[in-house]
Amino acid sequence: MQKKCSRKWGFKVSSNRIAFIGLGQMGTPMVKHLLAAGCDVSGFDLSPAVLEELAGQAHFVGCKTTREAVAGSDVCILMLPNSDVVERVLWDTDTGISAVLKADQIIIDMGSSDPFRSQKNAERLAAQGVKFVDAPVSGGVKRARDATLSIMMGGDVDTVAKVQPLLELMGKHLSHLGAAGAGHAVKALNNYVSAAGLVATCEAITAAQAFGLDPKAVNQVFNTSSGKNNTTELKVEKFMLSGAYDSGFSLGLMRKDVKTAADFIKNLETPGAVSSVCLDVWTRAEESLPKGVDHTAMHQFLQDSQ
Ligand code: NAD
Repeated sequence: MQKKCSRKWGFKVSSNRIAFIGLGQMGTPMVKHLLAAGCDVSGFDLSPAVLEELAGQAHFVGCKTTREAVAGSDVCILMLPNSDVVERVLWDTDTGISAVLKADQIIIDMGSSDPFRSQKNAERLAAQGVKFVDAPVSGGVKRARDATLSIMMGGDVDTVAKVQPLLELMGKHLSHLGAAGAGHAVKALNNYVSAAGLVATCEAITAAQAFGLDPKAVNQVFNTSSGKNNTTELKVEKFMLSGAYDSGFSLGLMRKDVKTAADFIKNLETPGAVSSVCLDVWTRAEESLPKGVDHTAMHQFLQDSQ
């Protein structure tokens, strides 16, 4: 019987099998949507604990190596921390999947990787007939769970058209922005704008508090005025003023995104004064706060820096 997964794809695949490498905060809920749609998923993660969470789910097979995960799959999705890890998974001499990839297999890098490095990965893969799409996401863990992620795609038109129905199982707002690397470029720039807004908001409410004002009341004014942004709307009350600091997106990953954007801007020699300052603040916060802390703890860092 044809499964919903392959039917939704709208193109001929030799199997329904998707390899999925990187089953962390984002990868695990994304895989659950593929499984619910009837896709067979071969998953791999360095952490046995995350594989355990998916073990026993219908259509899921936990693999011992990345090469085992990609064997017999048409598409391999990467949801990994950064380009260093992506390149290790692709090209490592002893373990890299490039050694076992076949012509016409498709790699989709859905993590927030470096756009220039993604362009190079796409070129190297193309040399062996393998297709590459970058499809990073925005919306965080909540929208990964709801399958309403924004997905920014880069790649050739035909390959993007092929994988789009698969990506629609995990996201709602899909944009094809250009050739390979375009999705990663827009993702880095988006997170830079978000990160700069977060720092500005935290600085503003910290100053307001020092002036004797109620930070919650101040944030509510921002939300009905021109200072409104993603942080004022979704993060200040829920994750910062509550002291919870548990949005599900780590400060280390946000610093990486700001660095990717700052390097991208520098490389293109376009104006980037604010991106340099922003990177400096996120770097100092990462150095000073405990490892693995949530990105909303930037609020705590700035409060403690007074
Ligand atoms: P995470 O740290 O929770 O998950 C990453 C997973 O990759 C971990 O489970 C880790 O064990 C695994 N991993 C690391 N090296 C590996 C390797 N060599 N082989 C196999 N698995 C390996 O991170 P996350 O929050 O799920 O983020 C994943 C990507 O998505 C990142 O690029 C991040 O910037 C991006 N992103 C995250 C969010 C968010 O809200 N968490 C939102 C948008 C984009």
